Order: sequence, then structure tokens, then C-alpha cells
Amino acid sequence: MDWVDLRSDTVTRPTPAMRASMLDAPVGDDVYGEDPTVNALQQRVAADLGFEAALFVPSGTQSNLLALMSHCERGDEYLVGMDAHTYKFEGGGAAVLGSIQPQPIVQDADGSLPLDRVAPAIKPVDPHFARTRLLALENTWHGRVLPADYLRAAHDFARERGLALHLDGARLYNAAVASGVAAREITRHFDSVSVCLSKGLGAPVGSVLAGSAELVDKARRWRKVAGGGWRQAGMLAAAGLHALDHHVARLADDHARAAALAARLAQVSGLRVLGQHTNMVFVEVPAERLRELDVHLQRSRIRISIGYLPTLRLVTHLDVDDAGVERTAQAFAGFFGSVV
Ligand SMILES: *Cc1c(COP(=O)(O)O)cnc(C)c1O
Repeated sequence: MDWVDLRSDTVTRPTPAMRASMLDAPVGDDVYGEDPTVNALQQRVAADLGFEAALFVPSGTQSNLLALMSHCERGDEYLVGMDAHTYKFEGGGAAVLGSIQPQPIVQDADGSLPLDRVAPAIKPVDPHFARTRLLALENTWHGRVLPADYLRAAHDFARERGLALHLDGARLYNAAVASGVAAREITRHFDSVSVCLSKGLGAPVGSVLAGSAELVDKARRWRKVAGGGWRQAGMLAAAGLHALDHHVARLADDHARAAALAARLAQVSGLRVLGQHTNMVFVEVPAERLRELDVHLQRSRIRISIGYLPTLRLVTHLDVDDAGVERTAQAFAGFFGSVV
């Protein structure tokens, strides 16, 4: 019996068809700009998202870091959500490696940074202060899709204040599919966007940073400095192209399965379903029972992540099917002693 791994959508493994596309990929040395498959992926993403250029990089963390370092210089500042990945989950890279000061802003429950809270955080031009350069948003955030009118307002705000606007769109395509819009309807508000191919899209490795040609040139230089200049990366880019061709529309299946799982768990007494957003279900379980629950679920070959967030986050993806959702619902019900 295969494991049902609900810890994250990063755990997906390349499908046989994806592996076949990787084997066949034409390759060259990407540091020389000569890998045709990498170039095709970069052009594809730039065109899809409405930007001049794009850069294929090993991880979302590096993609965001390169974006921050390309928008900001030493002594500059970016405004970012207190709970945002680029602030909290990337090892402080912008400060550590970029000499860029983060200014965290407390987010609303939907993941947005209220603009009336952002405005007073912008520093006056004065030697006392870091220079505020950039506003960074995240979509989806904990599975939540940022509202379209908020994106428009954030865009206008950034323009008025002379700030650049970056999107950590690790799960951009989840947001687009859930909203029933093309991804570029979301990205058109931004100056740069980072997208992960290695989450729900199912590629083994890789993210893409899209922006203006000038920004992407800077990012390419910082990628080399960061040790991310790679050679025959076309085999990995091929997986990304395959993911964009075959794994975008099916994200709707992950969202439907997350909704089905949430509905089943809502009938189990002893736990509380806090919400379901795109491919994530958030569940509150009595803290003292978490470890025991984990052991119980592992007996049914179900993996969850405990002790990382205050609540359980169950994530559906390419490698979780209807039977996996059913087995998970049964195992939770079995543990809490109720029937669903
Ligand atoms: C996963 C993730 C990243 C970083 O991606 P890695 O490839 O794991 O470095 C950035 N932002 C968000 C919101 C993510 O979920």
C-alpha cells in the first residue's frame, strides 16, 4: 500500500510521462545561455505570465531571494507579511545575504497586508532610515487566494508610493485555477513573480522568476553569485514544461479532494476543521493527542506533519487520489472513535 503523504505538495514524484520527457530533453550549458529546454521554459513562463523575461532556478527560496536582491540594494528595505514565506521561512536570506532589511507587517486573516497598515511603515527619505523599495505579497497564502480587488489596490498603492511589487507565487497556479482566471490576470499587477514547479505542479525541482528583462539580468547575475548557475538543467526544465502542459488544470482535482476531506473530517467528533482553502485543509486537534494521532495514522500509511504549525495542515496533491482521501477520513474517524 502506498503512503498517503499529506505533509506538503512538495512530496510529489515525477510521473512516468514526466520522466520520459526529461530523458528526451535537448540540453546545453545554461550558464552560457545555451540550454534549449531551459530557454523554452523561461520563454514559456514569461509569455504565460505577461513578462519580458524569466529565469529558471533551483528553488523557490532562491527565486525569492534573487527577486529581493534585484529590486533592492544594500541598505534598502522590503515590506512583507509577518507570516510570509519570504520573511519567516527562508532563513532570513534577504538580510543575511542581501543586506536588505525586512519590515514585517501583520497580515489579515486572508493573507493580505492592509494598505493602511503598510503606508505608515514606509520610511521617509532620511539618513536615519533604510530606503523602502519593495512590497512583497504571497498568493496563495496558507492556501488562501488573495482577493482580486486587493491585488488591484496593492498595485495602485505601490505605483503611487514608488514601490516595486513582488509576488511569491509559489502556488500561483492554485490561485488561478481556484479563481477560474488565467495566471496572468493575477500576475499583471506585479513587477516580478516567483512560481514553484516543484509543489502541486509535480516537477522534481525548480522555480521560475519572471520580470522585466533588466530585473531578470540582475537576477541571473545574483543566481551565479549564489551558486545557482547550472549547466545541462534542461532535463529539469523539461519536467517543468511537462508540468505546465499537463498538471495545471488538474489542480482543481486537488482542491476538490481537499474539500471532500474537509467535509468528511467535519463529521468526526474530537477534532475541529478550521477551514479548507485550495489544496489545504486546516484541522485543530487536542495538542496532547497529536503524537498518538500521528502514530495511529502511520499504521494506515498516512503521513502528516505535526508540531510545525499550531494546527494540522493537510495538503492534497498529484499523489493523493480519492482512495487516499477515503483512507485518511477513515483513519481519523477510527482514532477519534466516530463513524463517517
Ligand atoms: C515552498 C515555498 C517557497 C519556497 O520554495 P522552495 O523551493 O521550497 O525553496 C516559497 N514560498 C512559498 C509560499 C512556499 O510555499
